[in-house]
Amino acid sequence: MKNGDAVHDVVVLGAGPAGLSAAAEIAKKGLGVVVLEEHQEIGQPEKCTGIVSRDGLKRVFPEAIEETVIREVDFGRLFIEDLAWDYQFDRGKVTVLDRARLDRKLAALAVDAGAELMLSTRANWIEKDNGVWRVYTRAGVIGAKMMIDARGIGAYRGRKLSAMQLIVRVRGDFYEGFVVYVNKKVSSSGFAWYAPLDDGIAKVGAIGMAGELEQLLQGAIKASGLTVAPLGVSSSAVAIGGPVYSDDDDLILAGDAGGQVKPLTAGGIITGALGGIMAAEAVNKGAGFYRSLYDKEIGGELEAQVRLRELFESINNGALVKLVKALPSDQPLFMGDEFDSHTKILARALRSPSFYFALLEVAPRYIFDRLKRSVANAGQGS
Ligand SMILES: Cc1cc2nc3c(=O)[nH]c(=O)nc-3n(C[C@H](O)[C@H](O)[C@H](O)COP(=O)(O)OP(=O)(O)OC[C@H]3O[C@@H](n4cnc5c(N)ncnc54)[C@H](O)[C@@H]3O)c2cc1C
Repeated sequence: MKNGDAVHDVVVLGAGPAGLSAAAEIAKKGLGVVVLEEHQEIGQPEKCTGIVSRDGLKRVFPEAIEETVIREVDFGRLFIEDLAWDYQFDRGKVTVLDRARLDRKLAALAVDAGAELMLSTRANWIEKDNGVWRVYTRAGVIGAKMMIDARGIGAYRGRKLSAMQLIVRVRGDFYEGFVVYVNKKVSSSGFAWYAPLDDGIAKVGAIGMAGELEQLLQGAIKASGLTVAPLGVSSSAVAIGGPVYSDDDDLILAGDAGGQVKPLTAGGIITGALGGIMAAEAVNKGAGFYRSLYDKEIGGELEAQVRLRELFESINNGALVKLVKALPSDQPLFMGDEFDSHTKILARALRSPSFYFALLEVAPRYIFDRLKRSVANAGQGS
């Protein structure tokens, strides 16, 4: 950047769902916004299963639903070591989307709205000088009055777990539901999953400590009785520590970079895109304003979900089985918007005396108390 070079209103680092949602909304306001993406191609490499709620999709990417959703999934099976427990969702509430296609669609929407997109442009170094952000890239220095950091998990300063995912071809019977596999003897913090795509192709993934992932993946495949042939593998990390915010009024952390991820399951497409959309609302209003906006919308809920993760990590297989069996059996596992608002499931379950007493019995007392407080604070208590 030389004297006299243009200073953009906003520079966005990272072209994932969070950065692209922010850029589209900022451009719609008529502000100058440039997005820097280190990869040559949007959506690649893909490291995501693409499971999202339809309510969430309608909220954040209404224009992308038709082109990106692969299928709906209304049922699944939870394995806790040897226990197999079948569950259902409210019909049509949970979908699997093509994540790479979603990112491409969001990039097109952002560019159509007027955002500038620079591919193969890595932010190598960042500094702030006289109130202007200077982002150093191989293509030169980009200047902007405000910066949105949406660089994903590598930029997150909170608690993370490792993740691994296989794209597989299923030989024989293709299971059309989700599988979730938990075995506390293998991993106290992690779990594995299976999600059907189409035409015999599925994704099998796991989060946990690095050394536990393969065993979790194998556990999920074996428990579900599937025969699979891997077609591709990816590894990454996921954010599970809840939202973090910047102290600098001209810097907003959005998406994984800001821990805008559901801490129990590590799903972050919808919550990160919400962060991007709100970042656009907060341009020129500051990071403090952004925090209050995000907290009100979903951040408070994510904080409460950190308590759910604490519960999950504190109990063994037997205790988890007890809790699952005590869930109200006449209702779907997720109803309404509960796929993204997990504390609502807990609030609903706590209304059942058998679940209440099972939780009281298995959870360490301090976690039980914090959970109840969190549910109430999230504004969803009965
Ligand atoms: C195995 C796995 C499965 C998952 N499954 C699901 C799921 O089913 N549902 C769900 O909701 N979530 C899922 N997630 C989480 C989800 O993928 C993330 O929460 C989501 O991608 C976050 O979006 P983002 O825009 O914040 O970051 P990202 O999508 O990671 O985008 C960040 C972008 O920034 C770019 N970048 C990084 N550094 C720089 C730099 N220095 N300069 C320029 N560009 C840079 C990257 O190349 C990338 O394109 C999964 C995660 C993993 C690892």
